[in-house]
Amino acid sequence: MSAMDLFDAVGLAPALPGARCRGRATLFDLAEVGTDPEDAEYAEQAAKRLCAQCPSLMRCRAWYEALPRSRRPFGVVAGLVNRPKSVGRPRRTA
Ligand code: SF4
Repeated sequence: MSAMDLFDAVGLAPALPGARCRGRATLFDLAEVGTDPEDAEYAEQAAKRLCAQCPSLMRCRAWYEALPRSRRPFGVVAGLVNRPKSVGRPRRTA
């Protein structure tokens, strides 16, 4: 289930008629750790192309951009890619 499907299932997404992402979680969700980077890039580009052809793109983009950043789903949404901030130690600078 893609992030969009999940939001849809719990009633947090607007009606998005003809959404091209439905049932395509493998393209729209962020790649799992260990995925071949080329495969991940291919999926991301394919998802972006589907968004560009989606009849609900404008509505989806408006919904997505109205969400607080902390509540935006991860993955490809409305032609944009949302990744969690990387965590780790702060870098030392000389
Ligand atoms: S614009 Fe992309 S994420 Fe939004 S409904 Fe369409 S296919 Fe799904």
